[in-house]
Order: sequence, then C-alpha cells, then structure tokens
Amino acid sequence: MKKTKSREQVKQILMNAREPLNAQDIFNRDFTGLTLSTIYRTLIAFEQEGLIKKEVSPITREATYSWKDDEEHGHILECVKCRKQIRLDYCPFEGVNELIEEKTGFTLDDENHVLYGVCKECNQKLKNNVEN
Ligand SMILES: [Zn+2]
Ligand SMILES: [Zn+2]
Repeated sequence: MKKTKSREQVKQILMNAREPLNAQDIFNRDFTGLTLSTIYRTLIAFEQEGLIKKEVSPITREATYSWKDDEEHGHILECVKCRKQIRLDYCPFEGVNELIEEKTGFTLDDENHVLYGVCKECNQKLKNNVEN
C-alpha cells in the first residue's frame, strides 16, 4: 500500500472517532489492509507533525491518539516545494498584531491560517544541491 493512502486512511479513522484510539483500535476499524506496523509508523509521523494528540494512560501505559480539531487557533505551515503540511498549535502573530497596529494603525488579518515556506527536508535538499 502506498504511503499517502495509509496516511489518509489512518487520518479518516481518527477524525471519525469520538474517543481517542490506540493502534489496535485503528487496526480493528480499518478495512483496507493496513498492518499494525504501518499504523504505528503513520502515528509516529502524525505525532511529529503535530497533527494528533498522544495520551499515555498512567495505569496501562497504553498510548491513545486523537486527531486535533481545528477549533483552537493555530496555523498550518505548508511547504511550497513538497506541499507537506505541518500544524502549528499556537499563533506566531500573537503580540505581533498589536505591534503592527501600534506602529502603522494596520490591523492584521489573521484568518488565513496557512503560512507558506520551505520545510526542513526541502531546505536540506536545497543545501545539498548547492554544496555538490
Ligand atoms: Zn518540503
Ligand atoms: Zn494566528
């Protein structure tokens, strides 16, 4: 199975779930043939990208995952090279809004949640190309 497909599938299962799920729950709900190791790998990737919330039970030590909803104000970083999206849990403009307004009277429109740039991996590739 293609990597993007498994990502999409795990994302759908987590988004549709009302409660946090562990990897086994996701495995049980999946009908596309994901293996447990694929699910674990996908969950780790999602966690690193800040897309999901991981909770570890203090009693069973079991990790459960839930998709972060978009209600809290945050931003998406999108790479213009590979189109990867990374979620930022906080607003980098907090305080900056006030500063800009104070200096210029301009109020920043902070409704556009996607910030464009170049991700770590693509920056690394660019660097390597220059060096070679
Ligand atoms: Zn990139
Ligand atoms: Zn913001």
